[in-house]
Amino acid sequence: MPAYKAPLDDIRFLLHDVHDIGQLAALPGFEDATPEMIDEVLAGGATFCEEVLFPINQSGDAEGVHLENGAVRTPAGFKEAYTRYAGDGWTAVAADANYGGQGLPEMTRFVMEEMLCSANLSFSMYPGLSHGAYSALMSHGSEELKQRFLPKLIDGSWGGTMCLTEAHAGTDLGIITTKAVPSADGTYAITGQKIFISAGEHDLTENIVHLVLARLPDAPSGTKGISLFLVPKFLPTPDGGIGARNGVTCGSVEHKMGIKASATCVLDFDNATGWMVGEAHKGMRAMFVMMNSARLAVGLQGLGLSEVAYQNALAYAKERLQGRSLAGPKNAGGVADPILVHPDVRKGLLRIKSLNEGMRSLAYWVGIRIDLEHRHADAAVRQDAADMVQLMTPVIKAFLTDKGFDNTNIALQTLGGHGYIKEYGIEQYVRDARIAQIYEGTNAVQALDLVGRKLPMEGGRLVRRFFEIVKADVDAAASVDGLEDAAKALGASLYQLQKATMLLAERGFANPDEVGAAATEYLHLMGYVAVGWQWLRMATVSGAKLASGSGDRRFHEAKLKTARFYFSRVLPETATLLGAIQSGAAPIMAFEAAEF
Ligand SMILES: Cc1cc2nc3c(=O)[nH]c(=O)nc-3n(C[C@H](O)[C@H](O)[C@H](O)COP(=O)(O)OP(=O)(O)OC[C@H]3O[C@@H](n4cnc5c(N)ncnc54)[C@H](O)[C@@H]3O)c2cc1C
Repeated sequence: MPAYKAPLDDIRFLLHDVHDIGQLAALPGFEDATPEMIDEVLAGGATFCEEVLFPINQSGDAEGVHLENGAVRTPAGFKEAYTRYAGDGWTAVAADANYGGQGLPEMTRFVMEEMLCSANLSFSMYPGLSHGAYSALMSHGSEELKQRFLPKLIDGSWGGTMCLTEAHAGTDLGIITTKAVPSADGTYAITGQKIFISAGEHDLTENIVHLVLARLPDAPSGTKGISLFLVPKFLPTPDGGIGARNGVTCGSVEHKMGIKASATCVLDFDNATGWMVGEAHKGMRAMFVMMNSARLAVGLQGLGLSEVAYQNALAYAKERLQGRSLAGPKNAGGVADPILVHPDVRKGLLRIKSLNEGMRSLAYWVGIRIDLEHRHADAAVRQDAADMVQLMTPVIKAFLTDKGFDNTNIALQTLGGHGYIKEYGIEQYVRDARIAQIYEGTNAVQALDLVGRKLPMEGGRLVRRFFEIVKADVDAAASVDGLEDAAKALGASLYQLQKATMLLAERGFANPDEVGAAATEYLHLMGYVAVGWQWLRMATVSGAKLASGSGDRRFHEAKLKTARFYFSRVLPETATLLGAIQSGAAPIMAFEAAEF
């Protein structure tokens, strides 16, 4: 049977020692969000994930969701768990206090999200989608819509969805055909079919608020003609209760590879009543708020699954007795040594561990930037934080989910054949992790967003600033006892990233395929550097703790050893990525279709 323990020691190290979460309590409106209070909230969240959500993860996968007469039934235990989740206030954690939220920093939700995804990714989808709907309404909804719908989304009694995809329109949303026709009363009649809608229909909440992309009759073609509409499953009564059934039905649910307890629905809209969110034809702008928040959350899915897979693979590697250490028996009294003695097994586990801890640190750094962007009194700090969130969003989404999937696979390999069968739970993590590379914009699309939009943005200001921050830390670490090698390794990879950036700027103008051909490798190159930068920061803190004799000695020594592993065995992959980028588009684009 698999097990999960929230990595609270690592989380606290990052929040307190590396990222100074105390700075959040200094932001206007967060006065009560002291580090102690956040610790307490997260400890409660960890217990909930371990004791309520994790135990229904495997059973939820085995049972899946069922569609009966247009209604979706979630697996046993999901409704009870959701009722507790909402009742304990988890749907309200980082939501605006003016609409009934607890008003805690977004960072708190970020950490909770990782734990949720480790414990039960399918379950996390339901409140996750609701939060996305909350974000879009919060930033683009009229006050009337906010008053009507936000309190219900926040207290968790109503769920949310995002309805973008149509059968012929996935990545290319510019060709969607769902229609919105204005009605005399100011509402719109929405007609069309959406597919692959997560949490599109279920029994966890009394109502579901769909945020739907559609076209007005006079809409220009392409993405500039898309508007956003709020379409509830049940129309609300004036006093906020449940009114008549709206014209939206669930035609079918998908049978799929993973996240089987998350309902992936075909939704048919037939003259359904909707309200416009934001301005006509500017729906993509409003939807992007939701998509950006969801992209970061999907990145955390990759991390969460990688963490739970690591924990179970490590426990197995310590117990499974096979073969002898090449350097002589380590368990002389036993029939064989634990497989953890074998360099290859260690290498796999350390790769996962070093990526997990570095990616977690990077994600939290971004999470804190979101709070600074929203709350800091100084406009320059807000802008700087916003820049870094923009730049890092595709990296968090794609790098963390690509590595998350790879890592669950490595974890499975650690168990040999026992990883491939269901008993140990690891094969579920591999299946569940796969979707995160696809939805919320495939990882190829994230890479194009990074190189095509984020790099040139503001004349390159975002990426220059990122280089500046990393370079400053490399320079500072270069003369710190014990960090010289790490600083040298990161400095070399940063140089490779800068070189790749210049190359793309030069070649991209002449031939846009050069950008497309390099995008994924570039995103990974930046991901490795960003994670390496976080390792340098963590190693700096742990080194100082050890030097001053404070903190848990074993914890900090392990940090330094893991940093060394990352810098010597993982980060050097940046050289290969630069080599691939330098080879250009020609080897890819030279083929005619018939030559494939
Ligand atoms: C389980 C699940 C849950 C989902 N949940 C939701 C949801 O809640 N709401 C919602 O609206 N949608 C949802 N989706 C849809 C999901 O977001 C899409 O599947 C995804 O955006 C890709 O679209 P597509 O499947 O049509 O693939 P396509 O767009 O057809 O892409 C196919 C391949 O071509 C590549 N490609 C396409 N265009 C380009 C390009 N311009 N440049 C480079 N490569 C390109 C893609 O990277 C991909 O590898 C979900 C899907 C699944 C499977």
